This record gives sequence, structure tokens and C-alpha cells, in this order.
Amino acid sequence: MKNIAPSDIKGISDLILKARSIVITTHVHPDGDAMGSSLGLRHYLLNKGKQATVIIPDAFGESLDFMLAEGDRDYIAVTKNEKERCVDEVAKADLIFALDMNSFTRAEGLTEELYKATCPKILIDHHINPDRDAFDITVSSEEVSSACEVLYYVLLSMPDVNSDPAALPRQCATMLMTGMTTDSNNFANSVYPSTLAMASGLLEAGVDRDWIIGNLYQRYREERLRLMGYLLSQKMKITPLGVAYMVLDKKEMEAFDVREGDTESFVNLPLGMEKVRMSIFIKEDAGYARVSIRSKAGTSANALAKTYFHGGGHFLASGGRLFMPEDISDISEAGAYIETVTEKFFNDEN
Ligand code: 5GP
Ligand code: MN
Repeated sequence: MKNIAPSDIKGISDLILKARSIVITTHVHPDGDAMGSSLGLRHYLLNKGKQATVIIPDAFGESLDFMLAEGDRDYIAVTKNEKERCVDEVAKADLIFALDMNSFTRAEGLTEELYKATCPKILIDHHINPDRDAFDITVSSEEVSSACEVLYYVLLSMPDVNSDPAALPRQCATMLMTGMTTDSNNFANSVYPSTLAMASGLLEAGVDRDWIIGNLYQRYREERLRLMGYLLSQKMKITPLGVAYMVLDKKEMEAFDVREGDTESFVNLPLGMEKVRMSIFIKEDAGYARVSIRSKAGTSANALAKTYFHGGGHFLASGGRLFMPEDISDISEAGAYIETVTEKFFNDEN
């Protein structure tokens, strides 16, 4: 993580000191990094005597329930379920943080209200193309593991923390470690010297990594593993150009009783094959399909997501959507769509 401008640090610190009603927002389908950075920041602010509400566009998966500390639940508002409350929170906020997203467009259901809000806004993120114009202060780097990592270095720079990880509230430190762990796929991807320095600092400060790992990777439902076996043995296709893809439809999701979070990181599995340079995982949703894309060095998942899946993200890890019937008439056409667009994508490249 490169140095953060001292003027931005001072700006963030001053804005927090002055603020009384703070809103923290993050992206739709919040993952470990979205929740880790949002809850981590909330704990830091609580410790300073501030109140902060976390607004998420839709619910996070049950598998992340372990991240909630006592009282957190009352201060998480879900736009999809309680729009009025969220609009209200934004209207009365005197400071808004956006975390783990590059633009308010990712805060679905509340995008317009967030753009229109007149209070100061701070973006802390690690995606490509941060929407700087929409924020008073932007701290964003792609050369990090996660939004949690960017936030960690922002918080270390705050005068009250003064570069000492042990000065972070314990819950805050635990959340930051959790989000960094999930976004780096447990230190497999996007690991920079600053990432390991952060891990080291947090471990020294007393964060219980075994507890985090136990919660993240040793508590899966049986259905997840059965589904993984089914997808790999029955559904995975590999094109001649080295694109592996798996499409999961509604019927299969019902048969395996799939819940939010159950398919987390499946998209990474095919990259284990030498001949695969890109992996795509598609899951049917209402009126659209959710798309996850991962690639190996030299191939841009982000470019494919932007060009053909209405999405974006990072160079090697991106996501997007396929709308039905606009892009494909129904989910059974997803495989053919992938084959066509990836062939075009790789041909255009050469
Ligand atoms: P995942 O595959 O884990 O859902 O997402 C991988 C990355 O792509 C994440 O950084 C996520 O923020 C980004 N991403 C996922 N879906 C979308 C989308 O619909 N639009 C954009 N712009 N980014 C996305
Ligand atoms: Mn992230």
C-alpha cells in the first residue's frame, strides 16, 4: 500500500471528529471484505464514541454471521428489505463512507440517494476506476489484497492509532483480518508485502487467526461440498481456448438447497488446471444471472466482465451479470453465450 496523502489522512480524521451520524455503505451481495471493512470501520468509530450504521444493498450469507458482534445487527440496514430506513439514514448522515466498491452504482437500491446526499463522502477501496468525482476524499489502490487492507492503513494513520495495530479495537482488528483473508482467498491471491505486513501487525496485536479460519473454512454445510462435486464432475466445461465454465440454474440450486455464500470461491477451482486461463461461474437469479470471472496473469477478467457482462472488478477477479431476456433468453443459453463471447474476446486480443 503506497503512502496515503497526509492531506487525505487529516481530512478523514477531521471529518470523523466532527461527524455525529455516520453511514457506511458497501456493495450488493456483500462478501467477507465488504462486511469486514464495514464492520471493522464501525468498531473503530464506536470506540471513538461515534454511532455508525452499515447499509448493505441486500443480505449477506449466513456463513458470515460469525462476524457480527453484539449489537451490530441493530445497526445494519438492508436496502432491499427496509428502503425507507436506509433513505432516512442517508438523509440524516453527516458523513458517508463507501467501502469495497468503486462507485455508488454498486450500492443498488440507494444509488441515487447516495449521489444526491450533500454531506462529505469518503471512498476507501481497491477496485479499478474509482469514481473520484463522487467523493470528497478517495483512498484507493489496486495494489493491495482488499478494501480491508486499505482501511487498515488509513486507520493506522489516524492520530489516535499512531501506527500501532494494538491500538485498534480488537473487534476492528479481527474484522480487518477476516476481510483480507477472504479477498486474498486465504493468502493465495493479491498478496503484497503490505498484505503480509498487515497480517503480521494484526497477529502481533493479538488477533485470533485460528478462530477466523475455523469460522471461514471449517464450517461449511454438507450441501456445499456435494454441490462442488456435482459441478466439477457433471457441469464444468472447458473450451479449446482454455476457458472453463460452470452454470448453475435455479432447479439445481433448489435440489442442493443452495444458500447465499455456499458457492463462494468455486470459480477459482478450474484455474488449478494448466490448460485453463480463465474461469467463469454463472448462477441464475431473478431476471438475471450472476457472473464470476477469474483469470491467470496476462488475461484480464475485468475486460471480459466490462465488455460482455455489464460488470467489472479487478484485473484477475471480476464479476457482472447476464440479463434475461436481454442478453440471453433463458439460463440454458448461458453456456453458448460464454463460448461465443470468450472466443471473440481472445480473437480480438490477437
Ligand atoms: P465475485 O466473483 O467474487 O462476486 O466478484 C469478484 C470481483 O468483481 C469483486 O471485486 C466484485 O466487487 C466485482 N464484481 C462482482 N460483480 C460485479 C458487478 O456486477 N459489477 C461490477 N462493477 N463489479 C462486480
Ligand atoms: Mn474487496
